[in-house]
Amino acid sequence: KTWHQTGLTSKILETIKKLNYEKPMTIQAQALPIIMSGRDCIGIAKTGSGKTLAFVLPMLRHIKDQPPVEAGEGPIGLVMAPTRELVQQIHSDIKKFAKALSIRCVPVYGGSGVAQQISELKRGTEIVVCTPGRMIDILCTSGGKITNLRRVTYLVMDEADRMFDMGFEPQITRIVQNIRPDRQTVLFSATFPRQVETLARKVLNKPVEIQV
Ligand code: AMP
Repeated sequence: KTWHQTGLTSKILETIKKLNYEKPMTIQAQALPIIMSGRDCIGIAKTGSGKTLAFVLPMLRHIKDQPPVEAGEGPIGLVMAPTRELVQQIHSDIKKFAKALSIRCVPVYGGSGVAQQISELKRGTEIVVCTPGRMIDILCTSGGKITNLRRVTYLVMDEADRMFDMGFEPQITRIVQNIRPDRQTVLFSATFPRQVETLARKVLNKPVEIQV
């Protein structure tokens, strides 16, 4: 499989070329056609498999099909991940593509830099990558004045098993309940224990399951 068979836009393909990613990794070759067709997807894959671009590239295309986000509006793409480190990693992967596409991405996690995150959220951003607990804080303490979930139509849960291990299930459920049901949802997990399966059944709509 080549990148040109994946249905990505030429701007995205140009960036892939610059990064010297010669061909899609297995998880990407499997997941891209499914996610690009608009289906929900469960990917069982570990870090290092290339899973991040498997959900990021379709998200970028999804966002380019829609009007840009204005100040006061919330993001179109929402990515939840278990830790600050993973949020930063995903954010940095997205940034490699975002500038050429005029897509903004704000990382949301606790600790340093919160004021900066909040001011970027208020200006409007197409993508938010967050830890679930911190996202709830921002949504609640501001009464929706910093950002909101009304425009979210592409939702990702990355490392779902680890989010469970860290006790984030209530926060995830609360966030998901406030996102429109006609969204597209993608879940990645290194393992697929019963709890994650139960969550997936609640949150995803007829998902296609892939494993690498
Ligand atoms: P991930 O599993 O998403 O953490 O990705 C693992 C590493 O593979 C990251 O450093 C990516 O930059 C890199 N990568 C992702 N896709 C490709 C690709 N198609 N070809 C070469 N490297 C890639």
